Amino acid sequence: MNVDYADVAIIGAGAAGLFAAAWAGRTNPKRTLVVLDGAQKLGAKILVSGGGRCNVTHDVVTEEAYAGGSRNAIRKVLRRFDVAQTVAFFQALGVELKHEATGKLFPTTDSARTILDVLLMAARRANAQICHPNRVATVNREPDGFSLCGDWGALRATSLILATGGKSLPKSGSDGHGFALARALGHSITERVFPALVPLTLPKDHFIAALSGLTLPATLEVRAGNGKKLVAFTGSTLCTHFGLSGPAVLDISRYFLDAQMDDPTVSLLLNWWPAQSSETLDAALQGLGWATPLKLLHEGLPERLVRGLCEQSGVDPGAPGHQITREQRKALVRLVTALPLPISGHRGWNVAEVTAGGVPLGEIDPSTMASRVCPGLYLCGEICDVDGRIGGYNYQWAWASGYVAGVSVGR
Ligand SMILES: Cc1cc2nc3c(=O)[nH]c(=O)nc-3n(C[C@H](O)[C@H](O)[C@H](O)COP(=O)(O)OP(=O)(O)OC[C@H]3O[C@@H](n4cnc5c(N)ncnc54)[C@H](O)[C@@H]3O)c2cc1C
Repeated sequence: MNVDYADVAIIGAGAAGLFAAAWAGRTNPKRTLVVLDGAQKLGAKILVSGGGRCNVTHDVVTEEAYAGGSRNAIRKVLRRFDVAQTVAFFQALGVELKHEATGKLFPTTDSARTILDVLLMAARRANAQICHPNRVATVNREPDGFSLCGDWGALRATSLILATGGKSLPKSGSDGHGFALARALGHSITERVFPALVPLTLPKDHFIAALSGLTLPATLEVRAGNGKKLVAFTGSTLCTHFGLSGPAVLDISRYFLDAQMDDPTVSLLLNWWPAQSSETLDAALQGLGWATPLKLLHEGLPERLVRGLCEQSGVDPGAPGHQITREQRKALVRLVTALPLPISGHRGWNVAEVTAGGVPLGEIDPSTMASRVCPGLYLCGEICDVDGRIGGYNYQWAWASGYVAGVSVGR
């Protein structure tokens, strides 16, 4: 690295850090701007995101799609840089975004590389010097700013933006060390830091493992030990050899894992056929006569699944319905509409798309993303205690919070 001082240093050249750099430079081109990243290859996470296509944002983004810190603070930040501004930002750099039926927006090139390239270009055009691999090991508050050190040497800076991400996909460089840096500057980290948007595992011998590859729309619901419904998501659900994945499972994972830490008796229920109520299904099974449960259930469910569910409830799928006992019918209705999932765990940080927990939003001023505990420090992106649903919401948080931090530090 050929500099030892910058007006503004940014730790982390991920989505939030590059966005903050672009806006800090645009706001005040006279300031010297250095972005440090520990990774050998920049933007590894962006490149794999959205299945390699980068789901940049969503048609409709409100604070309701997020968990973690106060919804009010999240709304304030999101309003400062909305979806239309995101679209306009990329368009001005020559990147068109297309809307998909799910509400997700992707670059028309269907390549995450397009997004990474323009983010790097925007930061460099704003005169940011991007230095890597320059992992920041320690950071100290000095009387006139900050000192940052690593095995590459040291850098002094008047202002600092922490954009180190959280702990998801550690091989991309986001290994959680940013939390230690935030702590060193006086911040706390939420008591709970756990993987979100993460596939859930089931015991190896669970019948769902044998349905590996099956995808269908289903509803997942977290229920408290007393039976109270806490939260539910409906969407595509994928059976795998280890358990369950797909958007609905990823969305519910953080709520289930969080609730389970409060109360180990919470349960996760799966409704394979959300369009059918348990009462209607029960009545339809009772009225089968000589027709088979396979014929009835196959109207809404794949045959493999029907056979699996029938086997679990002791019902012969091909036998006339009048032979089904009351107990068997009740068991089958329950398995179809409210199957309790004995979740054994999750797939961990290497697979989780985002981090639940981080620097509490109460310690950050949402109108500037400035730290309330350390003057001259700003924070943005996933390091904050904010995690969004699947669908482009996490990037929209990175853009909005990066924008607010960038323009504020530039002023
Ligand atoms: C597989 C996968 C797919 C995803 N797909 C999508 C999607 O399609 N849409 C969506 O909205 N979200 C998606 N996400 C989530 C989204 O990528 C993140 O929320 C977002 O990238 C967070 O941006 P960030 O800049 O805050 O952190 P990061 O992207 O994690 O970047 C942090 C950067 O800081 C650097 N760093 C960390 N510590 C240090 C240090 N001590 N010194 C120097 N540098 C450091 C890291 O190397 C890294 O480059 C996906 C995530 C994953 C893992």
